Amino acid sequence: MIENDYELKVQGSRGITLVRGEGVRLWDDTGREYIDCISSNGAAILGHAHPAIVSALSKQAAILSSVSSTFQHSPKSRLARRLVELAPKGLTRAFFTNSGTESVEAALKLARVATGRTKIVAAKRGFHGRSFGSMSVSFNPRSNQLFEPVLPEVDFVAFNKIESLEAKIDTSVAALVIELIQGEGGVHPADPLFVERAIGLCREKGVLLVIDEVQTGFGRTGRLFACDKFDVEPDIMCLAKGIAGGFPMGAMICRDGLEFPVGSHGSTFGGNPLACTVANAVLDVVTREGFLDEVDAKAATFRKNLTIPVRGCGLMLGIELTERARPYVDLLAKKGILVLTAGKKVLRLLPPLTISREDIISVTNVLGDVIGESLVSDSPLS
Ligand code: PLP
Repeated sequence: MIENDYELKVQGSRGITLVRGEGVRLWDDTGREYIDCISSNGAAILGHAHPAIVSALSKQAAILSSVSSTFQHSPKSRLARRLVELAPKGLTRAFFTNSGTESVEAALKLARVATGRTKIVAAKRGFHGRSFGSMSVSFNPRSNQLFEPVLPEVDFVAFNKIESLEAKIDTSVAALVIELIQGEGGVHPADPLFVERAIGLCREKGVLLVIDEVQTGFGRTGRLFACDKFDVEPDIMCLAKGIAGGFPMGAMICRDGLEFPVGSHGSTFGGNPLACTVANAVLDVVTREGFLDEVDAKAATFRKNLTIPVRGCGLMLGIELTERARPYVDLLAKKGILVLTAGKKVLRLLPPLTISREDIISVTNVLGDVIGESLVSDSPLS
């Protein structure tokens, strides 16, 4: 493995140096081949070196690669129009960012400025990013404590507990920020009744409903957005990860009437021509007829071939173990399968949406061997 003593150590290291990727496969510097069920934490939805991305990126690099976001260019205007057309009804404007955390920051600032209220309600076990605002609305009491004071006036509801929503959503709240499938928190889908009550309460109390689709967006759940699956029309939707297939990008999309005073928010790199061009190329692929149905079919193959209980939706899968998941991540890597964790005891799989049936079967065979039923918590299938 390459030594890198000059990079600040802020996240654990897997002890693997990757040198190349193609499709769902990655290779390390010893020549070992892996099936990638991480997809760059859910971002590389079309796998690695996808020809549509390679071609779009290289062509655009020779035309126009970087401009101030105060200028217009056609990749950006085309992408904004397409996103708005594809987004849930009522969302009419896009603001471009470079990451999920920035999309959430934009949503928090917009919620404050648009409502004149300061309080934010989020969900226990939720995750929305690492910058101050998004960290403050993420439920991570232990690590947030290190950075106190975090954003004030943030409260948390118990996810999927309607009574908790009813107790905390009132007219002092600017926004309710939730994921429809909690990813980092352990791959927990929302209960449709909880979502329905959240929509009703937000409408009744004038609270903006912010749906964080950073991990679920762009086909991960078998629909373009989890909002489509749960029949939600949010006031604000936060996007990143899959939007440009792993090229750094994000977006916040909001409904008509929600405005920033001009000049009160912005981004140097947001809406960069290269990022927008790649995002347009990714959209061409994921909106192709049959692509999302294929994701559903692949998800069914995963579930059929895993003899163990799996949580989640589409190709966002969580397996709850009875002990720490981390050693299994390393064991699976040794057997050529890259997966990640979600919380202490959950193994999470976020494969590229382009994974083949054959590769799914290889992955499920290895998972079955390595995990074994005795290690799987008897949490109900969902
Ligand atoms: N929101 C959700 C639901 C996420 O899963 C993540 C990252 O995992 C983020 C926000 C933060 O995104 P980023 O790491 O691009 O800032």
